[in-house]
Amino acid sequence: MVVEIICVGTEILMGNIVNTNAAYLAAKCAGLGLSCYYQSVVGDNEGRLYEAVKIAYDRSDVVILSGGLGPTQDDLTKETAAKVLNKELYMHEPSKEAIIRILSRRGLTITENNWKQAMVPEGCIVVENPNGTAPGIIMEENNTHIILLPGPPGELIPMFEDSIVPYLKKLTPDVLYSDMVKLCGVGESMAEDRIKDLIDAQSNPTIATYAKTGEVHMRVTAKAKSEEEAKQIVKPVVDELFNRFGDAIFTTKEEVTLEESIVNLMKEKNLTLGVAESCSGGMLSARLISVSGVSDVYKAGLVTYSNEAKQELIHVSGDTLNRFGAVSEETAREMADGTLKTIGCDYAVAITGIAGPDGGTKEKPVGLVYIACGCKDNIIVKKCQFSGNREKVRQSATATALTMLRGQLLKNIG
Ligand code: ATP
Ligand code: MG
Repeated sequence: MVVEIICVGTEILMGNIVNTNAAYLAAKCAGLGLSCYYQSVVGDNEGRLYEAVKIAYDRSDVVILSGGLGPTQDDLTKETAAKVLNKELYMHEPSKEAIIRILSRRGLTITENNWKQAMVPEGCIVVENPNGTAPGIIMEENNTHIILLPGPPGELIPMFEDSIVPYLKKLTPDVLYSDMVKLCGVGESMAEDRIKDLIDAQSNPTIATYAKTGEVHMRVTAKAKSEEEAKQIVKPVVDELFNRFGDAIFTTKEEVTLEESIVNLMKEKNLTLGVAESCSGGMLSARLISVSGVSDVYKAGLVTYSNEAKQELIHVSGDTLNRFGAVSEETAREMADGTLKTIGCDYAVAITGIAGPDGGTKEKPVGLVYIACGCKDNIIVKKCQFSGNREKVRQSATATALTMLRGQLLKNIG
């Protein structure tokens, strides 16, 4: 079943708004097992919209349009889609009543053009819109389904979840199931190289890899007649990935993040954590604190940006700072050690580096970051050379710190 997405609106075409509807719809359709081969954006222009809908109608099984269902003259989607299928519009009384209800509740005066939203193509399915005045529309002709959705995401998303997903599920008898195998501490090309044979041999399940800063995600997806059957197809491939990557895999669940897996690990063992950050400026703490329930684990985080703060708050020695500099293995180690003592936690992580774009030297270039991590009398320090802009260096440092922390935890507590 091939789906195609068309987003309508000159605002999107001009870059005034970001096309989040396309990303949302594409991800949802992929999750439903629909193959999406084309996505397009068309301005509020009848001729070009007609052409786009016609082409999509001819080559795809499901065409989803977003936007242009409003009451004004430049909202043309419904009229144009109906024209492609040679359908007349008629006044849909329940939609008219809904418009009266919504507008009077909002204290708005009804104008003549409001009735435009209650006009629907003959023979279509009208989809209720609890969050706005434009109903959604489903038209079916020659086994092709054209689905019209309102542009505002606050209307489109609930309508899609509540009404369109059940509709699409009925069209696709196959069930799709995927596990998301997430790895940390392994580079993307290295990871892909190690599963090249699996990727070459794939048909059902399929393996798709995605790179994220410091992580590689592998989605293993199977199609079958039931979820149970699909799970059985996915399992041996996931087992094989565990054989190959072992501890580098921190979860097989889409929704679980690296920070969450670490927090869970520490929670299980009743361990606490403290953080001292320089160049990452709180990013590590922010990632950890995004995990609900982290309070059992996370005690405190300090952004010790200046040398004085490193000395006063976490007792890095002035001598170390003078001799080796703030960005050095020695300082990172003392930051972690000082954090353990000042905060009184079981584990500490410290980050110090040069995020750029200024401040680099020949000996200490931009992107040089030292990360220290561990527990009492067992702190390891890693020297990293990251690339990219300030933001990217900070993100890489944060991701690496999390990976190191996880590595230390696994080594010490199994
Ligand atoms: P309205 O009744 O508000 O006119 P509509 O169905 O005609 O709704 P549009 O006029 O195309 O939709 O868009 C209305 C608003 O919805 C836009 O200003 C924008 O904020 C949001 N929107 C539209 N299309 C998209 C999109 N593809 N991605 C994200 N937001 C969008
Ligand atoms: Mg509009």
